[in-house]
Amino acid sequence: MRYNDSIEQSAEFLRLALPLMSRQAAALNPLSYAIWYEYVAGINPALQARVDELIRDDHVLDDALTTELFRRYVADIDRETAQRVGHDLQKVMIDVSHSAAQAGDKAGEFGTALQAWSTGMAGTSDPSATAKIHLTSLLDHTRDMQTSVATLKDRLDDSQREIEELRQEVDRAREAALADGLTGLSNRRGFDMALATCLAALVPGAQSPSLLIADIDHFKHVNDCYGHLFGDKVIRAVAQVLRDNVKGRDTAARYGGEEFIILLPNTPIEGAQALAEQIRVMVERCRIRRLDSHEFIESVTLSFGVACYLPGETAEELLARADKALYASKQNGRNRVSVAGPEAA
Ligand code: GH3
Ligand code: MG
Ligand code: MG
Repeated sequence: MRYNDSIEQSAEFLRLALPLMSRQAAALNPLSYAIWYEYVAGINPALQARVDELIRDDHVLDDALTTELFRRYVADIDRETAQRVGHDLQKVMIDVSHSAAQAGDKAGEFGTALQAWSTGMAGTSDPSATAKIHLTSLLDHTRDMQTSVATLKDRLDDSQREIEELRQEVDRAREAALADGLTGLSNRRGFDMALATCLAALVPGAQSPSLLIADIDHFKHVNDCYGHLFGDKVIRAVAQVLRDNVKGRDTAARYGGEEFIILLPNTPIEGAQALAEQIRVMVERCRIRRLDSHEFIESVTLSFGVACYLPGETAEELLARADKALYASKQNGRNRVSVAGPEAA
């Protein structure tokens, strides 16, 4: 269960949540309570980090912001809970199914033993007619028992398959909600969640994460010259280069139309800069064919802004610094990498 606090503990959370909740402009409904409950209970670090940011920036949570927070940070994790429940349920089904199989085996052994006994009795001098009738009836019952246990096992196997299918469906729905339809990279929502989770998990003294923002140069020109469909092909080709260049815990996302972003946890600025340079060169060297004539077009290039997280800054501040560096790349001629300074954007 998502909340398993005692009555005393949850009463304490209620006491802590009420003043925080009543300071906001949102209605005091269960949705808003869920946010503040999780906030004071300290069970949702990503939500907590985001709410702290909002409070620090003097935001007051209205209905729209509350709904957005709920959708992004609470409802999603509920799906995780659903998944966990699915896993647990499946384990139970497997156990029960094994028990049923064992029961079936036992019934089978019992039947075989009875059968042997009956055959033995038939061979002896003169078994009484009554004993024979009892035995036949006993054997019939045993057979019935075996059949019903076998049916039970089949049903359990079916349920288990259904649960597995449901679980996969939940996985797919979750992935789809956080993925970009055109490229298969994370979408903006997926990225924002990854960044919030990464920042919330930072420990003092550990290496900070770095961000890399990339924007296709003169993309409007590509669309104008070769058509929107070709533009989409270019976006997919760039996404593929990004995908080929990230690994492990990195998150590559399509952040907007022709803008991409990569989160590199635990990475110094030099590492992020080197990766940006590597991607820049690979994209520049990509040869993309036109859809109609199959001729290669002139090279597509990317401009980059790279920033390393500064302790204490918000996700927005980090993004703004990376964006400012990207702007500098555009100003200085495009097809280049610029590193963000520590000053606020
Ligand atoms: P700059 O070098 O300054 O970034 O110039 P730009 O032309 O790339 O930038 P601008 O913002 O002027 O134009 C971006 C274009 O990207 C405009 C928009 O139509 C196009 N675009 C955005 N999303 C998509 C998409 O999904 N598919 C296609 N084909 N085009 C898109
Ligand atoms: Mg552009
Ligand atoms: Mg752009």
